Amino acid sequence: MRETDVERWDAETDVIVVGFGAAGGVAAIEAHDAGAEVILLEKMPFPGGLSAISAGGIRIAENAGDAFTYLQATCGNRTPDDLLHDLAQGMVDIPEYVRGLARISDAQVGVTGAVGNYPFPGCMSLGYCEVTDVPALAAGQRYSATSATTNGGRLIKVLEDNITHRGIDLRYETAAGELVIGNDGQVCGLIARQAGRAVALRAAKAVILTCGGFENNPDMQDQYFQAGAIRPTSFRGNTGDGIAMAQAAGADLWHMWHVHGPYALSDPTGKYPFALFHKGIPMWTPGVPGSASDLGIEPDEAPNASRKPLARLAWILVDRDGRRFMNEYPPYPGDTGMRPFDQFDPLRQEFARMPAYMIFDEAGRQMYPMGYAAYNDAEVSFEWSRDNLQEVERGIFHRADSLAALAEGIGVPGNRMRETLDAWNAAVSHGQDTVFGRPEETMLRIDTPPFYYGEVRPAVINTQGGPRHNVRQEVVTPFGRPIPRLYAAGELGSVFGHLYMSGGNLAECIVGGRRAGREAASLARQVSPPAPHGRARHLAGPNQEGTING
Ligand SMILES: Cc1cc2nc3c(=O)[nH]c(=O)nc-3n(C[C@H](O)[C@H](O)[C@H](O)COP(=O)(O)OP(=O)(O)OC[C@H]3O[C@@H](n4cnc5c(N)ncnc54)[C@H](O)[C@@H]3O)c2cc1C
Repeated sequence: MRETDVERWDAETDVIVVGFGAAGGVAAIEAHDAGAEVILLEKMPFPGGLSAISAGGIRIAENAGDAFTYLQATCGNRTPDDLLHDLAQGMVDIPEYVRGLARISDAQVGVTGAVGNYPFPGCMSLGYCEVTDVPALAAGQRYSATSATTNGGRLIKVLEDNITHRGIDLRYETAAGELVIGNDGQVCGLIARQAGRAVALRAAKAVILTCGGFENNPDMQDQYFQAGAIRPTSFRGNTGDGIAMAQAAGADLWHMWHVHGPYALSDPTGKYPFALFHKGIPMWTPGVPGSASDLGIEPDEAPNASRKPLARLAWILVDRDGRRFMNEYPPYPGDTGMRPFDQFDPLRQEFARMPAYMIFDEAGRQMYPMGYAAYNDAEVSFEWSRDNLQEVERGIFHRADSLAALAEGIGVPGNRMRETLDAWNAAVSHGQDTVFGRPEETMLRIDTPPFYYGEVRPAVINTQGGPRHNVRQEVVTPFGRPIPRLYAAGELGSVFGHLYMSGGNLAECIVGGRRAGREAASLARQVSPPAPHGRARHLAGPNQEGTING
C-alpha cells in the first residue's frame, strides 16, 4: 500500500524484521549491533519457526574456495556466483560468530568435520557447527512449543537470549501484512495485525523479511507444485506471507518449485495436522572403502568421510497399481525422497503414486518405530509407539493377515501383490535391487504375515522459493533492480534451487541474516513526511480479512 494511505503510524523504528526464526533473530541482532533501533515481529505466540525444531546443523567450511565449488554444483547453475561466493565465505566465518553469540547463554558450540551430503567437488572441506548445550535447557526439557529440544532449539534459545540482552523490541502474535511504499518508491514500513487490530509500523531505514517459506500455504503450493499442495512436517506459521508482501512491492520470485522433503505418513484421525516422518535414516554421505557409500576415499585422505552404515529399512513402497516405483532409500531421503511422487500419468490422467503405500511385515513391525513426529506447535502432541501398534490402532497403518488381504486393502489384484513381493524377496536374496538401485545393506525380506500397509505422500520439510535477492540481500524486481529498503534472508528466497546442501538453510539464515541486518542498519534514515492525523486507514494483509478503519 502507499504511504499516503497511512493516516498515522502507531510506532516508528529504524529496521523492522519480520519473523523470529534463525534468519530473523540474526538479522535483528546484527542490525541492532550496527547501531539501528529494531522491532522484531513474530506472528506466533512462541519463537523459532522451523529453525527451533530443526536438527540445528549449520553447514560450515574450512575454505571458501572449496565451499564455493560445492555450492555451484548443488545449485545447478541456477544461482549467481557472487551470492555463492558470499555464502561460502560466510560459512567459513560461522563458527566464530556462533561462539560469540553463545557466550551470553553460556552455551556450548560444537564444530565437526562432515563431508557434504552429495559427492560434489569441494565436499571434503565441509563440516557442521551446532549449539550442543544450553545450561538453561535441562536435559529432556522441551524448548518452548517444540516436540523435543534439538540443536535447532538450542540455537534459537541462544538468539532469544541475545535479543533479550540487547533489549530488542520483540513482539509476538504480531503478523506483518502488507508493506507500505513511500511516494518515492521506497519501502517505509508495514501494516501488521497485533492483538486483533491493525497497526501501522514505520521503518525509517528498512524492512527485512525473514518470515520463512510457504510450507503451510496450500493455495500457493497448488500454483507452484505440479502435484499440488503437500503437507508440512512441522510448523503452521510459514504461510508465504513474505512472498505475497514482496510480490506486491514488485519482487521477482525464484526457486518456487523447490521443495526439500521426504515421503511421509499421515494421521487419518486428523488430530495430528502435520505429515509424520518415516523412521530417521542416515544419508549416504560420501564414505571410505567398506562403508555403505564407498566413494573410494582413503581414510587418511579424508578423516571426515563417513563410516556410518546405512540403516536396514523394513519396508518397500508401491504405487496404486501395487508396483514398486523408487529406491525407498535415496542418497538424501529428506531432500529428494518426495520427488518421485510428482509423476503425472498422461494416459490415465492421474498421479499414480498419490498415495503410495508403505508395506512391511510382522518382523518389520517389531524392529523399530516406523516413524516419528517433529513439530514446533503449542497445540499438538504426538508420541510414536515403540512397537507401532498405537499407529495401527490409529489407522496410520492397516493390518492384513495374508497377501490376499494386503492386495485387497490396497485395491490391486492379488497376483500383482505376490509378483511385487516375490520380486523384492528375490532381489534381497541376490543382494541386488537391479531395478531401482536400493543399497544392499538396506534391504530386508518381507514375507512374515501379518502384513501392514500405510498411505504415504510427499511432505514438505521446507520450501526454498521466494523473492529473488542480490548479494546484499536486497529484494530485486524481475529487471534486477533492488526494491529500495527491502531485504530478505533465510529460506524465504533461498539460494537453493536445484539440490539442497544439508545444513545449508541454517547457514544461509546466518550468513544472509547478518548481511541483511548490517546493510539495513547502514542506510540513512528516511525523513518522515508530514503526517496527517487519524488512524491507519487501509488495514488488510495478504492473509488477513480486509478492514478499513478510520
Ligand atoms: C525437522 C527439521 C529438521 C531440519 N534440520 C535442519 C538442519 O539441521 N540444518 C538446516 O540448515 N536446516 C534444517 N532444517 C530446515 C531449516 O530449519 C529451515 O529451512 C530454517 O530454519 C528456516 O529458517 P528461517 O529463519 O528462514 O524461517 P523460520 O525458522 O521458519 O522462521 C520464520 C518465522 O517467521 C514467522 N512468520 C511467518 N509469517 C509471518 C508474518 N506475516 N509476520 C510475522 N512473522 C511471521 C513464523 O511464524 C516463523 O517463526 C530442518 C527443518 C526441519 C523441519
